[in-house]
Amino acid sequence: MVRVDVLVVGAGPAGSRAARCLAEQGHSVLVVEEHDRVGYPVQCAGLVSQRVLDLAKAPDVVRRSVHGATVFSPALRSISFRAPEPRAFVIDRAGLDIALADQAARAGATFETGARFDGIIDGAPDGVTAKLTRRGSGPDRVDARLVIGADGVASAVARAFRLRRPVEILPAFEAEFPESPGDPDLVEVYVGNSISPGLFGWWIPDGGGGARVGVAVNADGTPARVYYDRLVAQIGRQRGRALRSATGYLVSGIPIGPIPRRSGRRVLLVGDAASQPKPLSGGGIFTGMRAAELAAGVAHEALAANDLSPERLSRYDAAWEREFGDEFEKAQYLRRLFLKFTDAELEAILEALHDAGTTETIVAFGDIDFPTHVVRRLLRQSPSLLRLLPKAVGALWGGDERRIPDLDFVSDRVHQ
Ligand SMILES: Cc1cc2nc3c(=O)[nH]c(=O)nc-3n(C[C@H](O)[C@H](O)[C@H](O)COP(=O)(O)OP(=O)(O)OC[C@H]3O[C@@H](n4cnc5c(N)ncnc54)[C@H](O)[C@@H]3O)c2cc1C
Repeated sequence: MVRVDVLVVGAGPAGSRAARCLAEQGHSVLVVEEHDRVGYPVQCAGLVSQRVLDLAKAPDVVRRSVHGATVFSPALRSISFRAPEPRAFVIDRAGLDIALADQAARAGATFETGARFDGIIDGAPDGVTAKLTRRGSGPDRVDARLVIGADGVASAVARAFRLRRPVEILPAFEAEFPESPGDPDLVEVYVGNSISPGLFGWWIPDGGGGARVGVAVNADGTPARVYYDRLVAQIGRQRGRALRSATGYLVSGIPIGPIPRRSGRRVLLVGDAASQPKPLSGGGIFTGMRAAELAAGVAHEALAANDLSPERLSRYDAAWEREFGDEFEKAQYLRRLFLKFTDAELEAILEALHDAGTTETIVAFGDIDFPTHVVRRLLRQSPSLLRLLPKAVGALWGGDERRIPDLDFVSDRVHQ
């Protein structure tokens, strides 16, 4: 039987970040990863902000910088936002995971790959006994004072500790293409109910002459692959020829929407396991890494005080809410509005964005980690955008304004 202070389940960005922070504080940390190689298989488009690079301190993983985006409406009308300076970065996602794991290992964390967390056994007096299934040899039980679930969208840790799962999991399908004929400085975003109901489709130049192309959609029973095929056919028509064959595919899911608690007795959830991807984009690397730091801070003090009660560990929920609660609540609200729009209304929104000044506002204030900030400015700035809101609000809440959550982001009272 192995005994550690902290068992981290999952060696993605959130798990390795939490492991590093806790190992640096002198705690014994074991990270178990079900796959044989950290970082593989890659399940991500790998578009991140400068904040991720600042946190990761792994400059070698950057493949290229991106200066903005072209957004395509359902009728393929487009609007481009291009900043003079880089606004996002396309990274080698497997490289990021490996770099973060290396940092954690250098700080003293132990990694075991090919080891799957399979649940907990009740009864340990001063800890939790976790069951492991291994591909190789090694003990199949670990005693830990605390378990950190960083095991992604299907979190076995959340299930073992009976923490509620996210309401929405968006099926996603992505492929790697050996060519990228578009503007190498811009990502392309495709909205519309026939292409990607529920989120959007993307085309991301990968920095090596190819592109990552995918969709994330509502779970309405139609496989994401069907929408992906439509998107690729549409991009082919736009380019005037069919694209060359894709060289690799990934199928996964993006958890969206709040869960009641990310903590419990002797357990904390971080990253996708805690449904921490951003509601308007599904991006979860920055928020997962930051959540891991917040969780590690609370865990360190709780371990030092030998108090791993739900009350003590709920300080992590509070810290998360302080840093991201407002942004996520507003983003979730905007997402629910977005889901109500017909293709005609999406056309009208894109049309309104052509108004004088709005593209400049987006270029100046767009922030992929905190997108509601620029939406607030746009709604104040563009009356034609504001006019689109009441219908959607009525559709959502049946006209009962008392049930509408904090709408201050469309009010002149709010100034950034
Ligand atoms: C198609 C797609 C594109 C995306 N593109 C972007 C993007 O461009 N930018 C962005 O910021 N985000 C993006 N995301 C989201 C991003 O990939 C996730 O938010 C991020 O990976 C979450 O990190 P994590 O560490 O929480 O979980 P993960 O990266 O999912 O890591 C979880 C780890 O736990 C392991 N694991 C799972 N179960 C067990 C178990 N029982 N025992 C042991 N190990 C286990 C897994 O093998 C995995 O290594 C995308 C997601 C998808 C699906």
